[in-house]
This record gives sequence, C-alpha cells and structure tokens, in this order.
Amino acid sequence: MVEQIGVIGAGQMGNGIAHVFALAGFQVKLMDVNEAALDNARTTIGKNLARQSSKGKISEADATAALGRIDTATTMKVFADSDLVIEAASENEGIKRRILTELCPLLKPSCLLASNTSSISITRLGAATDRPEKFIGMHFMNPVPVMKLVELIRGIATAEETYSAVRTLTLTLEKIPVSAEDFPAFIVNRILLPMINEAVYTLYEGVGSVDAIDTAMRLGANHPMGPLELADFIGLDVCLSVMQVLHEGLADTKYRPCPLLVKYVEAGWLGRKTNKGFYDYSGPKPVPTR
Ligand code: NAD
Repeated sequence: MVEQIGVIGAGQMGNGIAHVFALAGFQVKLMDVNEAALDNARTTIGKNLARQSSKGKISEADATAALGRIDTATTMKVFADSDLVIEAASENEGIKRRILTELCPLLKPSCLLASNTSSISITRLGAATDRPEKFIGMHFMNPVPVMKLVELIRGIATAEETYSAVRTLTLTLEKIPVSAEDFPAFIVNRILLPMINEAVYTLYEGVGSVDAIDTAMRLGANHPMGPLELADFIGLDVCLSVMQVLHEGLADTKYRPCPLLVKYVEAGWLGRKTNKGFYDYSGPKPVPTR
C-alpha cells in the first residue's frame, strides 16, 4: 500500500505535487539540493492552501494538517521508507539520470518510482534505475492543485501492477488519469508546445505584438490565456527544452525551436519565475517586453 510519498525537486511542480498528496492525507518528504527552493516551496504551499481554504474548498484545519504532513530535506536518504518517489527536478536528462542512479540504492525494494518529466523518454529514464518495471511517467499539469489531468506513461518495461497502482493513486488525489504512449512530449505538450512555439514565430516575424497575439488567441480561439502569457507561466526554459526534445525525437523541422525563444532563454528571461519573459512582472501589471 502506498502511504509515504517522496518528491524530488521543490520547484513549481514539486511543491504542487507535495501539496496535493499531503492534502489527500499522505505523508510527504520533499527534497531539493537548494535550501532556498525548499523555503520557497513551504511558503508557496502555505499560501496556496490558505487560498483554497479562504475560497471554502477545504477547511482551515485541513490546510494546517496538510502542511504538517510535509517534511523537507536536502538529502535523498529521507526516502528510505517511501512507497512512491516522484522525481520532479529540472528538465534535464543528465540531472534526472544522476538522481535516479543515486536514489535507487537508498530505496526499499518495493518502492515505486515516477518521473514528472514533460518530454523525456520514460523507457530511457527507467533504464537508469534498478527497477524499470516499477518506473512510470506521472505527468502532472501546472498548477498542480488546480489542474485535473495527470498523464500516465508506461515505459516499455513498466509492469501492469505499477500502472494500476499509480492510476488508483491518481484517482485518490481526485485527478483524472489519461494513458499516453512513450513518445516525445506525450499528448498535451506534443500539441500545446508547437502552438506556443508558433506564437513565438508569429512575434519573431512581426506578424503581431505580444499583446496582439495573446488577445487574438484569447478572444479568437477562446483560450483562457494567450500563448505567450502561458509560455511565461510554464517557464521559457521548459518550453525550449520540450521543443528540443520534439525536434530531436521526431526529427521533423516543424518542431524547430524559434530563435527568439532561444534568445529569451539565453538572456535568462524565463517568464514568471524570473519576473521577466514575454511580459515584465516587476510592476503591479504585466507589461509586454515586445
Ligand atoms: P523548476 O525549475 O521550478 O524546479 C526544479 C527544481 O529541481 C529546482 O528547485 C532545483 O533546485 C531542483 N533540482 C535540480 N537538481 C536537483 C537534484 N539533483 N536533486 C534535487 N533537486 C534538484 O522546474 P519545474 O517547472 O518544477 O519542473 C520540474 C519537472 O516537472 C520538469 O521535469 C518539468 O519538465 C516537469 N513539468 C513542468 C511543468 C511546468 O509547467 N513547469 C509542467 C509539467 C511537468
């Protein structure tokens, strides 16, 4: 039975994953190599729980109890008792492989392993573990406490019991699982990121300004957020790395990352998390940077 959850990486996704598991009654160990990321995660989770309780979605007591079920750490040794560890560290295959290689000897044999990767092959990541049959892709959407979908991705070696245990857990979190095959970027990002990349090309070629492109897609396609606003929200580094995976993995020029997206990432303008991307977030209202 899965009771103890481990989460690696306390960034945007890791803190959301810790939040939803703790709220559902699981004990959570949230680990990051960066102490500041752990402090930020605690603050963010506290704020997000408070927002849910002020909206009447959960009680104040539930919010306090959930926060109390999350322990933070800077070492993976804390995962010795975990039943499921979810890797949600930076979207870099080298980093993820190193984490998995170091992690496996610290786990009990029955521990299941999942990665929240947006685009990297689950089969390849599973091969970096000592238990590919217990390894699965568990792809949460951002922001995790709000978004209902979880894509579940079997690698070639993933056992049916692993899939069904993780599917049941997903339902326990009151999320909706969808099964995706292990192809680059799975379903949502295979469709969404080329659209965002095309929006950046539209900006790059001067077809429209940031404001024109986002307004057009909000009002013309009824999208709740414009594509550039959404790119800032996801993180431009994450967007670029998904496009690179699609480009390399599917070897089709239609996935070529827009040079302007590359430039923004090179400048360190990564979107909301750095206060600047296609919009500048330093003032009271986001201001387009182009
Ligand atoms: P992020 O940059 O906000 O956070 C990543 C965290 O990982 C950082 O705090 C970093 O310190 C930590 N980290 C790096 N190396 C580590 C290590 N060796 N051990 C432990 N922690 C380490 O990134 P994010 O947006 O939270 O993305 C995390 C994962 O989730 C990525 O695989 C990404 O593709 C995926 N994802 C992102 C989104 C999104 O919208 N941002 C959505 C779904 C999935």
